[in-house]
Amino acid sequence: METIVIVGGGAGGLELATRLGNSAAKTGRARVVLVDRWPTHFWKPLLHTVASGKHDPQVMAIDYAAQAAEHGFEFARGEVLGVDREARRVALAPWIADDGAEVLPARSIGYDKLVLALGSVTNFFGVPGAGQHVLTLDDVAQAETFRQRFIDGCIQASARQAAGAQEPGIDIVIVGGGATGVELAAELSHSARALARYNVHAMDPVRHVRIRILERGPLLLPHLHQRLSKRAARHLRALGIKVLLDTAVARVDAGAVIDTDGGIYPSAITLWAAGVQAPALCATLGLGTNRLRQIAVGPSLQALDDANVYAIGDCANVLCPILGKVPPRAQAAHQQALYLAQVLGQASPLDAPFAYRDYGSLVSLGPLAAVGVLTHSSGRKYAVGGALARLLYSLMYRKHQVALHGVVRMSAQTVADWIREKLSPSVRLH
Ligand SMILES: Cc1cc2nc3c(=O)[nH]c(=O)nc-3n(C[C@H](O)[C@H](O)[C@H](O)COP(=O)(O)OP(=O)(O)OC[C@H]3O[C@@H](n4cnc5c(N)ncnc54)[C@H](O)[C@@H]3O)c2cc1C
Repeated sequence: METIVIVGGGAGGLELATRLGNSAAKTGRARVVLVDRWPTHFWKPLLHTVASGKHDPQVMAIDYAAQAAEHGFEFARGEVLGVDREARRVALAPWIADDGAEVLPARSIGYDKLVLALGSVTNFFGVPGAGQHVLTLDDVAQAETFRQRFIDGCIQASARQAAGAQEPGIDIVIVGGGATGVELAAELSHSARALARYNVHAMDPVRHVRIRILERGPLLLPHLHQRLSKRAARHLRALGIKVLLDTAVARVDAGAVIDTDGGIYPSAITLWAAGVQAPALCATLGLGTNRLRQIAVGPSLQALDDANVYAIGDCANVLCPILGKVPPRAQAAHQQALYLAQVLGQASPLDAPFAYRDYGSLVSLGPLAAVGVLTHSSGRKYAVGGALARLLYSLMYRKHQVALHGVVRMSAQTVADWIREKLSPSVRLH
């Protein structure tokens, strides 16, 4: 029986492990092992809602061990440090508990087929000071750090204001006007209002919680049509968010962001959302990579340099004949997981190449609005906005839940989430 090891239990990896567990592992055709550095899965496109305090990651996270037991695969917790491709073994770092005690020593897992689904990390593009002075949204821990700093910062600024500070309020700078930056800014603006309602701070949430987005290009959301980009900018400005376009960051200091024209933007909290690249591990495996360290794969998602290694999601450089380079998106990771489940998990494996289909893109503008495009199978694009777009945006997460748990459990979860929302504060207060 062959062993399939999947490294990374994110949008692509966990769906693939679940599908392969249900098909190949439960029927005894393969042993499937999922490896991740964390014990739980959180769907990355919702990380900005953790950072703003809207969602509690503890409630929404999926336990890998429980998912594995239910779907017939194994889960091994640990950070992968390297791969011995000759011996076909994946090397895991020791697992160290929060109190510093070693839970498990360094170990390795053998494989016949290896799937790398390592996701991506923030790309600072070499901007001085960015690595030291900014926060990022790469995982739940970082989103939680941002949330804590945001709440603490509002409390401190409010206290300074009450003591008669000359410059009242708090400045937050988001670098990057793509989907992550725009979605976070909109959610933060709503959280600042909610925190004022709960008397966590006593500031004017618009005048004194100053949120700025710095975007180097002439438009927000450059992947959308110009009309939608302008609509998103208008919506953010109406919320009181300052949108600065054609503003490239030259340097980040401890309390300020400096642009290439010498403009200085005070910043108590700076979040970098200006681009991603594959994790450093990808460049150490002896496999061909591009300048973003993404692993070069062929039409069946097999690494060009090793037929036993596959790569999916943000860490893979997938080129499709018609649409070109596949973007780092959850919908791409999902489609690739679906494809590999058919290639690796079926008794008579799929023989066709992977074909990416772009279903469009939706960007949330807070709890009640979104903008985006939906792409028909004919290639025709339809612009959507407002509450309908927001509803469609929410369905993306429900679709992910269906892939992992099925329709019945997703429906029960939706009802439970709705009840929880009605019973809890609209923003996490501690
Ligand atoms: C705020 C935000 C909003 C987004 N919104 C959207 C959206 O609206 N639509 C959309 O399509 N996409 C969106 N994206 C992008 C989307 O989240 C990613 O494209 C998608 O999650 C990629 O899936 P993946 O499986 O490749 O990696 P991930 O989901 O990032 O998972 C990678 C996994 O690998 C694990 N891992 C990494 N390195 C190691 C290691 N060395 N050892 C062990 N485990 C490791 C990580 O712990 C993680 O669990 C958004 C991203 C962000 C941050």
